[in-house]
Amino acid sequence: MILEFDIINILIALSTVANLLYGFLVYKRTQGSTSNSLFFLLAIAVSAWGISMIVFRSADSVLPALVAARWLYAAAAAIPTFFLLFALLYPQKKYTLRHRTTALVLIPYTFITLLVFLPNAFIQSVVINATGEHSIIFDQNLHVLYAFFVAGVFSTGYIALIRTYLKQKGLVRMQIVYILFGAMVPTLVGLFTNLILPIYGYFQWNWMGQISIAATTGLITYGILRHRIFNIRVIATELLIFVVWVIAFLRIVLSKDTAAVVFNTVAFGALILVGYWLIKSVTREVETREKLEKITHKLQETNDRLKELDRQKSEFLSIATHQLRGPLAGIRGHLSLIIDGSYGSIPERARDVITRVFTSSGLLAQTINDFLDVSRIEQGRMKYEMRDFDCDGLIAGIVEELRPVAEDRKLELSFENACEGVCTVHADYGKLRHIFFNLIDNAIKYTEKGWIKVHVTTSGSSVRTEISDSGIGIDPEEVDDLFQKFVRARDASGINVNGTGLGLFVARQMVEAHKGKVWVESEGKGKGSTFIVEVPRITPEEQRRAAAEARKQEKEDEEPKAL
Ligand code: ADP
Repeated sequence: MILEFDIINILIALSTVANLLYGFLVYKRTQGSTSNSLFFLLAIAVSAWGISMIVFRSADSVLPALVAARWLYAAAAAIPTFFLLFALLYPQKKYTLRHRTTALVLIPYTFITLLVFLPNAFIQSVVINATGEHSIIFDQNLHVLYAFFVAGVFSTGYIALIRTYLKQKGLVRMQIVYILFGAMVPTLVGLFTNLILPIYGYFQWNWMGQISIAATTGLITYGILRHRIFNIRVIATELLIFVVWVIAFLRIVLSKDTAAVVFNTVAFGALILVGYWLIKSVTREVETREKLEKITHKLQETNDRLKELDRQKSEFLSIATHQLRGPLAGIRGHLSLIIDGSYGSIPERARDVITRVFTSSGLLAQTINDFLDVSRIEQGRMKYEMRDFDCDGLIAGIVEELRPVAEDRKLELSFENACEGVCTVHADYGKLRHIFFNLIDNAIKYTEKGWIKVHVTTSGSSVRTEISDSGIGIDPEEVDDLFQKFVRARDASGINVNGTGLGLFVARQMVEAHKGKVWVESEGKGKGSTFIVEVPRITPEEQRRAAAEARKQEKEDEEPKAL
């Protein structure tokens, strides 16, 4: 018997080669994964099915046709079986099926295979047709049983995949969608032409399954490798080069004389080398990009996780500090009443201690407020109530408020106002007060001897406030970080033990919310520092316009009443 290569057999052969290639590709790319090794076995079964079909169609006498027919049906029974095992395992890497399940899949398969090879049972004989397709004479009942087996096992496989789909998330889900829908259509075609039609003695299309199944394996391959999106380029390159090699090889076989053989062989060798190099370089490029993809994905995940942790932390901070604030306010209230003598007179020694406790509780309250501010800022809950006021007036007030503290520390505190009445800002009064209070308070805290100068002036369209001191100064290396959360200069705790490193962070966030800027300049350690704040001001022109607007609005509001 000679293998006959008509167009159908050529198509089956191509499909068989493609199947093997797909199986091998998946196996190679995802080595170590049992479910994917099972896919390779499935591809081998599919190829055996294709090869036996080629032999069956080429047979010109009953005996070889009968042998081929038996192999054809045995291989066809292996396909749903491996598909089911694959579907039960996917996307597991290890073989996790229980023995009972494996047995439940393999026993019916063994039984059906025995039935296929048993003489005069399922497949009884073959009718050779010189022109059309050969037909097989089946035992009708066993044929129906066989059809039930194939359809049943396939369906169970699909159900298993749907269950995995429902359980899984993200990428695997997408892969299963490909496997599921991509594979279902060709499977149904195959079932119809190769299984159902022959039951009715119709063999004209019984080779369709072998061809359409290439689409099934192809789509499953794409599904499995889908997450490596660039892989499709490697697959395409490999397939293309493979086809070129086959053509080049066929040219050698079909050469008419020795010169042609030599020429074609040299060309074939060159194509092998070039093709190999091409596949290698595409693979390398794809692998690099895949690695990058993976790293980006991981970074993204880590970033999301960190964001979530940060959110939880802010929430915790907010709840915890709220819980602390109430009782502390109560304690401070009572302490101040005790100091005032509202609960009767107290011994001098006790007064001393209680006053110190009161001062410490004030610091604690301040820290809690800082924490609350931080959590409000991070949760985007900080509210700003904007109105127009003179910034220089506000700062002058703070300077006076802090003067006794500076005097206590024997520091000279001076204030210079160069505003000339044009330092009006549209801002949140409380927040600006908080910012300037903090900065001037810091200047006092971080200065052991010498002076603190506060200077307010205009600079372009901003009010510029400079708070300079002759204090401990800041190391240039540390300047950039000071405005971050919990950051303190290395030597800060030597002079101020109670700091938290939150004040400047809160100040910068608040200034930026006013579309302003805050920064620090220092010539270095021991050389003092200057904190500069710039917040947008409203020009007299703008003020006049706003006032006119307001008056107009007022009039409009009144007019309807007059009517
Ligand atoms: P805290 O004062 O509670 O530590 P801040 O956020 O207000 O927190 O300040 C952060 C750090 O910036 C301080 O710990 C200190 O190291 C430095 N710093 C702030 N103001 C000055 C200043 N006027 N002179 C020198 N260093 C300062």
